[in-house]
Amino acid sequence: MDEEKSEFGYTKKSAWECFSDEQIQEAYSFCEGYKDFLGKVKTEREAIDVISKITEHHNRKTYVNKHASAAIITKGLKPLSEGLRIIISHVDSPRLDLKQIPLFEDSESNLAMFQTHYYGGIKKFQWVTIPLSIHGVVIKKDGSKVTFSLGEDINDPVFFVPDLLPHLSHKIQDNKKLKDAIQGEYLDLAIGTKLDKNSEKNKLKNAILNKLHEEYGLIEEDFISAELEIVPSFKPRDVGFDRSMIGAYGQDDRVCAYTSLKAVLDVENPNYTSIVLFVDKEEIGSEGNTSAQSATFLRSLITEIDPNVDIDKVMLNSKVISADVDAAITPNYTEVFELKNASAIGKGISMSKYTGHGGKYSANDASAEYVGEIRRMLNDHQIPWQTGELGKVDNGGGGTVAKYFSRLGMSVIDVGPPVLCMHAPFEITSKLDVYACYLTYKAFLTQ
Ligand SMILES: [Zn+2]
Repeated sequence: MDEEKSEFGYTKKSAWECFSDEQIQEAYSFCEGYKDFLGKVKTEREAIDVISKITEHHNRKTYVNKHASAAIITKGLKPLSEGLRIIISHVDSPRLDLKQIPLFEDSESNLAMFQTHYYGGIKKFQWVTIPLSIHGVVIKKDGSKVTFSLGEDINDPVFFVPDLLPHLSHKIQDNKKLKDAIQGEYLDLAIGTKLDKNSEKNKLKNAILNKLHEEYGLIEEDFISAELEIVPSFKPRDVGFDRSMIGAYGQDDRVCAYTSLKAVLDVENPNYTSIVLFVDKEEIGSEGNTSAQSATFLRSLITEIDPNVDIDKVMLNSKVISADVDAAITPNYTEVFELKNASAIGKGISMSKYTGHGGKYSANDASAEYVGEIRRMLNDHQIPWQTGELGKVDNGGGGTVAKYFSRLGMSVIDVGPPVLCMHAPFEITSKLDVYACYLTYKAFLTQ
């Protein structure tokens, strides 16, 4: 007997076979809104702003923590002491940040430049010679704020990180290891070539300073109190003849932010009170006061719902989806994946019992009971799903915010869509997986 055809065997199904033609149509139209969101949101601050606006548009309230994390609370029918349903995604993405004193001139190449320090796990060679935009805020000397979003409109200028031509890169780059070929300190942004004729020296630098003062009222010291982020200026695009995929910057993890936002806004009268959380700083280890490791914001939200509740009891009874993306099986590089357990694009959401690396080190390992509960929920709602494991054993690995919430006593599992080219300037998702993600979060919040 052919084992694969056994009624007792398990095989992953394609989302294309699980969904009806109508659902496939719905998935495509759902993703139009998603692309629009991605196009407007290139930083964690912009994500929180847009999420707040969409939420307010639905006459709902967002609780915002220091411009970079936020929450939406939905009251349920059951008492709060029976626990919360929490979905948590992160709104920061890998990028290049400007250094505190970024501006310098490279008189040999005749370029004015900004120095950067990369943020999160990037493959540095992917960030050179692509159009980049500048987003963020500068707090001026008098305390007023200037907001930047430059390089998105077709008429805006863009910026770039120069790289060496192939004719001259033999010695200095080609024979090096891929990770050493482009040094972090060389990820400087080219920002202009015009000279200030009136200056005796620093003609390039002064020309930029004059321009920044004229357009934004900035002086050089203002950069010290700034958060300026250099991100790809690509627009979100359909990918493939069948338009089945989305290519865009920042889908890790704004795909989960958008789908959980849409889910919570579509849920009415749920049994359990829920908090949909959007956090910052996941890509640098969830450090800082807007991250998942800082539980103070969450505690304040629980107190906001009921000031007299036993917070520990609420946490112990709470169930959480850590909504983050998973690595999709990548063509030509399948050897790093254990194919039975890894997730592929277009096969639905990926459910990871554990993440971590080398012997499940540093992993949240969800209990069989909780995985069973989520599995039943997915099957009951006929949502296409697959298991996820980030690479073969001892081939690397990674983590999510799951462990920080399980430490608080909650049941936590990772559920999100697979992504191709994760952390690249142009990340790829499947429209059906994105839609499956929305359906999953909605089912979870409705329970
Ligand atoms: Zn992520």
